[in-house]
Amino acid sequence: MTKLQSVRGTYDLYGEAKRKTKRVTRIAEEVVEKYGFEEIETPIFEFTEVFARNLGDTSDIVTKEMYCFEDRGGESLTLRPEGTAGAIRAFVSNGLQQNLPLKIYYQGPMFRYERPQKGRQRQFTQFGVELLGAETPQADVEIIAMAYEFLEKLGLDGQVTVEVNSLGDDESRDAYRQKLVEYLNAHYDELSDDSKARLERNPLRVLDSKEDCDKNVVANAPLYADSLNSASREFFASVLSGLDRLGIKYRVNNRLVRGLDYYTHTVFELVTDKLGAQGTVLAGGRYNGLVEQMGGGNVTGIGWACGVERLAMLLDNLPETPRPIVVIPVTDEVNTAALEITQKLRLNGLYAEQGYSGNIKKRMIKANKINAKLAVIVGPDELARGEVVLKNLDNGEQKNIAVANIMKEVK
Ligand code: ATP
Ligand code: MG
Repeated sequence: MTKLQSVRGTYDLYGEAKRKTKRVTRIAEEVVEKYGFEEIETPIFEFTEVFARNLGDTSDIVTKEMYCFEDRGGESLTLRPEGTAGAIRAFVSNGLQQNLPLKIYYQGPMFRYERPQKGRQRQFTQFGVELLGAETPQADVEIIAMAYEFLEKLGLDGQVTVEVNSLGDDESRDAYRQKLVEYLNAHYDELSDDSKARLERNPLRVLDSKEDCDKNVVANAPLYADSLNSASREFFASVLSGLDRLGIKYRVNNRLVRGLDYYTHTVFELVTDKLGAQGTVLAGGRYNGLVEQMGGGNVTGIGWACGVERLAMLLDNLPETPRPIVVIPVTDEVNTAALEITQKLRLNGLYAEQGYSGNIKKRMIKANKINAKLAVIVGPDELARGEVVLKNLDNGEQKNIAVANIMKEVK
């Protein structure tokens, strides 16, 4: 029989790696709930058009990364490559327009057919937030501040930089697109084949290319800032002054665009230099036209999503897990009595374990292995007197205690 393996680009998470991703999502939940966000869970697959229409026909995701399949009924379905499209689809199909402004967050697996490498998987986890129906620049500030607090709570604030840019409103975007096309046409021969195609269909995407030849051309491309109209410039200035007021350090990155087609005004990324080319751990922006495009009316939106595994890779110290109390029966006939004591400890909120088998020596070794702090040794003779032995595994001290007093003694 051939050896069973996981699919390329997918991983089993267990032990410390899982503890790390769990810490990331726990802290994310804690922080965003404090800002009033509520969790929404949407299906892992949707009709293909939910993504194809909404991520734009030219994004990398739609053109080459989606896992699409036909189900047995002949429907074209796609495993979600990101969370925003599904969240907005749910917003529209459940008629949540009455609840604006709406603050929602989601988490779960995403799927993209990409070349696997460090920090780039085919199944990965995103945690993301969407704020719908809030138009002011202060909303942008708040959403960036929330991302920043999240990374701060993870202990990563010294390792990441906030980069921001503005793509302006539709008018500014059109003006910029025109200038960019002129410039790129003048450098047509230097572009990669992919970018030549992008130039036809969505020239802004060239700015996002990871190919060296494109990067060289892009380095001297016209700056977005020069094409912003006054309303867009004002909006961006308010975002930056808000960040200043909250003491959030940022860098304006004029080259920042973002891979998806629907962004307007503020776009931002939290970037580290510790993960090579996969340095973006969290990314987001304002998407004022998306909800309308999905049939949900004129509702503005802003949000971000982070790569949970990428963030987990940056964590080096997990907080210590609580040390258990181990209950050890000396003979088989006191097994049930020992279980009863274990359960009493647990029901009183303590982390208690009991080895399932083996002699007392084996169980003591096991207790040390799981870093237990105390052992409760249950012997038939002591038990007959209503007592057990309590042993401190750090210093070896032990004493007989009454079973009835066990909670008092272990504290
Ligand atoms: P990249 O430029 O690295 O391809 P992206 O622009 O495609 O990222 P987004 O669609 O903005 O990424 O997704 C948000 C976040 O999800 C990223 O910043 C990253 O942390 C994470 N992410 C995206 N794709 C992957 C992947 N294939 N494997 C692991 N994490 C990913
Ligand atoms: Mg990508």
